[in-house]
Amino acid sequence: MTSEIINSKDLKKMDPVFGQHSFDDHEQIVFCNDKDTGLKAIIGIHNTVLGPALGGTRMWNYANEWEALNDVLRLSRGMTFKSAITGLNLGGGKAVIIGDSKTQKTPELMRRFGEFVHSLSGRYITAEDVGMTTGDMDTVREVTPYVTGISENKGGAGNPSPITAYGVFMGMKAAAKFQFGSDILEDKNVFVQGIGNVGEALVEHLVDEGAKVTIDDISQERLEAVKSKYDVTIYSGNDIYSENMDIYAPCALGATVNDNTIYKLNAKIIAGAANNQLAEENRHGKILQERGIVYAPDFLINAGGIINVYAELEDYDRQEIMRKTENIYNTTLEILDNAKLNDITAHIAALNIAKERIETRKRENSK
Ligand code: NAD
Repeated sequence: MTSEIINSKDLKKMDPVFGQHSFDDHEQIVFCNDKDTGLKAIIGIHNTVLGPALGGTRMWNYANEWEALNDVLRLSRGMTFKSAITGLNLGGGKAVIIGDSKTQKTPELMRRFGEFVHSLSGRYITAEDVGMTTGDMDTVREVTPYVTGISENKGGAGNPSPITAYGVFMGMKAAAKFQFGSDILEDKNVFVQGIGNVGEALVEHLVDEGAKVTIDDISQERLEAVKSKYDVTIYSGNDIYSENMDIYAPCALGATVNDNTIYKLNAKIIAGAANNQLAEENRHGKILQERGIVYAPDFLINAGGIINVYAELEDYDRQEIMRKTENIYNTTLEILDNAKLNDITAHIAALNIAKERIETRKRENSK
């Protein structure tokens, strides 16, 4: 998934772990190997100042181990700031399992992975990410309590994707308010790239509000399934980044805003669910700002999922989950205003607030 960010030849030139491109003072990186089940996983714990490192497990057929390591480093760092800006008492962590989730995932492999999670005694708490289901988290739960995102009938908060989509929708509306002066998305031209769990739920909110939605996915099956349920257009061109649109909603891969796409983008707003949308957050954030494209920081607006799983740890109800998720609207607007006022990018404005919260807690903890 990270091949578009930095190519693996360059990754290999760097020091193996602490010198990696995406290493950012991560506290702990755990390499897990089990010959019997074929498990090869990496758990990244970026920061635990605010609480245990919580973040999903991604199973992906990485081209090589460097890509897997780079991905877990980037994703776990993102989780630190996501929880911090959302006001949750959680640190940032993430895990990747190397392999094809369709052909190589077995209950034995998931249980073995759960045992590795358990060995960290709660410093890392897992959940689902790409390539994982609530059923997989139920399997992990058989061997460790340090897992969230388990099925509702097993006492969990269930699939986080609809809540994530609702948060993205809230962030998108706030960005619209900032950019267009109104948060009503009726008749806005929105391109949703990736209509999986989150993308489809986002499409539903957009269609309900009367937006003109175009969907794009590498899976023809998904395109047809979503088209059969909602009044949307399937994208038929060959370069989505060059299309005229009001809002671009990346809901598939990270790093789609990169050197190859950023000058083509005609959108007035970027707001989507994918993690790490900016290939290089400072440089690409700045270019978007200069081009007048409002970027709703990904780690801020896609926090609905973590708000949902956090309910399992803090024991709050659905109403509170929705209230916290709805608040993404206010936070996004505050961040965009703050960025404008201080002439910085929205990404940096959001990071500054997240980092400040961590530093304050660090000072309190050391007293
Ligand atoms: P998913 O696997 O259900 O859906 C991803 C979709 O993207 C699939 O339909 C896939 O076919 C499509 N896709 C892959 N490559 C594509 C490409 N190049 N162009 C167009 N479509 C492509 O995943 P999801 O759970 O919907 O998550 C989507 C994104 O949001 C991921 O980046 C994930 O990390 C992020 N995210 C998800 C959650 C959550 O609650 N599920 C929370 C936070 C962030």
